Amino acid sequence: MLKRKSMKRIAVFPGSFDPITCGHESVIRRAAPLFDKIVVALGINTEKQGFCKEKTRLAMIDATFADCKNVVSASYKGLTVNFCKEIGANYLLRGLRTAADFEFERSIGQINKQLENEIETIFMLTQPEHTPLNSSIVRDIIRHGGDASPFVPKAAFKILKQNI
Ligand code: ADP
Repeated sequence: MLKRKSMKRIAVFPGSFDPITCGHESVIRRAAPLFDKIVVALGINTEKQGFCKEKTRLAMIDATFADCKNVVSASYKGLTVNFCKEIGANYLLRGLRTAADFEFERSIGQINKQLENEIETIFMLTQPEHTPLNSSIVRDIIRHGGDASPFVPKAAFKILKQNI
């Protein structure tokens, strides 16, 4: 117990962030005071070409949290719990929008706990206005020439516009 107390509280917030949305931002900002560090971690899917390049996605995360000293970005391949172990993170942070999210997250969270008992998954509820928001909707709006600016953090949107 004593060991845990002296350990730094490092959380990983995993996702594909293609692109980061105001929903992601809100969860991360609200969780930032609870941890010493939050690593916003871009899970790289080697079989799927993303909408935005990895470099652009990371730049959007960095720009969004330029004012948050304890929020950093990273990318990783493979199992999320292995990445957590690699960087010494003891928490996984996830957002919950709906009951469907809960069921999905419950199985991942419970399996992750079985894989790595030391890593706890922490959930934060979405702000009501962000409940219908996800990255795939943002991509659809952009593909069809709509205005996605209300759904993407301002600094990230600037980068997004230059890279599409
Ligand atoms: P991505 O949308 O980046 O592909 P996910 O859908 O897996 O990745 O989301 C990563 C994390 O962000 C998950 O914990 C998810 O619940 C959370 N999240 C996604 N969209 C929102 C939102 N609109 N509000 C709050 N949390 C969200």
